[in-house]
Amino acid sequence: MKSFLKKIGLYDAIKFCHNRYKYFLQKILKLIFNSNIVLIYHRVADVGSDPHKLCVSPKNFKEQIKYLKENFNIVPLYEVIQDLADGQIKSGSVAITFDDGYADTLHAALPILEKFGVPATIFVTVGSIGLPESFYWEKGTEIKDRGRCLTKEELIKLAEHPLIDIGAHTMTHPNMAKLDKKKQEEEIMLSKKRLEEIVNKNISLFAYPFGSKDSFTSETTRLVKNADFISAVSSKKEKVFNFSKLFAVPRINIRNCDLEEFKKIIETA
Ligand SMILES: [Zn+2]
Repeated sequence: MKSFLKKIGLYDAIKFCHNRYKYFLQKILKLIFNSNIVLIYHRVADVGSDPHKLCVSPKNFKEQIKYLKENFNIVPLYEVIQDLADGQIKSGSVAITFDDGYADTLHAALPILEKFGVPATIFVTVGSIGLPESFYWEKGTEIKDRGRCLTKEELIKLAEHPLIDIGAHTMTHPNMAKLDKKKQEEEIMLSKKRLEEIVNKNISLFAYPFGSKDSFTSETTRLVKNADFISAVSSKKEKVFNFSKLFAVPRINIRNCDLEEFKKIIETA
C-alpha cells in the first residue's frame, strides 16, 4: 500500500495531512484538558564526545532547573502518578526523572536539585550497580567521556535523600520486546527484589529500557503489573493527561540545550 501511494505521488501528501492533524489534535487536547510534564535526563556532565546525546552540562542543567522552579510546580513523579490514577491531573506540574543510574546523578545533578529544593526519581539498571566498566552502550564513547555506574554505597546515599525516589529499570537494560516471557519476568522481578534489598525501601515505579513503543509489549506491561509495580514510565514524547496510560506514562527526553531551546521544548510539549 505504502509503495503504491508513493508510486502515484500521494504518500507524502497523506503523511503531511496526518502530521498536521496530529499536531492540531495535540493543541486542542492541551487547551481542553489539564496536563503535566515528566522529563527524562540521563547524565549531568561536561564531556568532549557524547554520541548518544545523554549528557546535559551542569550549566545548562542548573538553568533549566531554575527556570522550571520559577515557572512550574515541580513535584515528585509519584504525585503525578497518584493524580493520574485518581483521574485528577492538575495543570502546570512537572516531574524530573533520571534513567540508568550514572554516578554523576549523585555528584553533579543532586547538588543542583538541592540548591533549588527540587525532587527527582532515579530509575536504576540494577545489574550495573558497582561495575567498574560503564554501561554497554558506552563502548563507542571515548574512555574519558564514559559515565561511571553508581556504586551500592552511592545508590544508598541517593535513596536516603529526602528529595530522591528510586525506581527499577531492569537488571541489564535489554529491549524487553525482544525477550521471551520468562526472561522479561526475570528482568522485572529481580530488579525490584535486588533494589529493595539494597535501599531497604519498597520499589513501586518501573521505567522500560529505551521506552519507545517498540521496546515493550502488552505482555511486558502485564508482567510489570503482576510484579506489584503501581506504574511504569515510557519515553513517548507527550504530556501526561488524565487519559494517559498508568503503565506507559509519557515522558519528554531532554538533551544538552541552552535555556531558549529548553523553553521551546517545554512550551511545545
Ligand atoms: Zn535507560
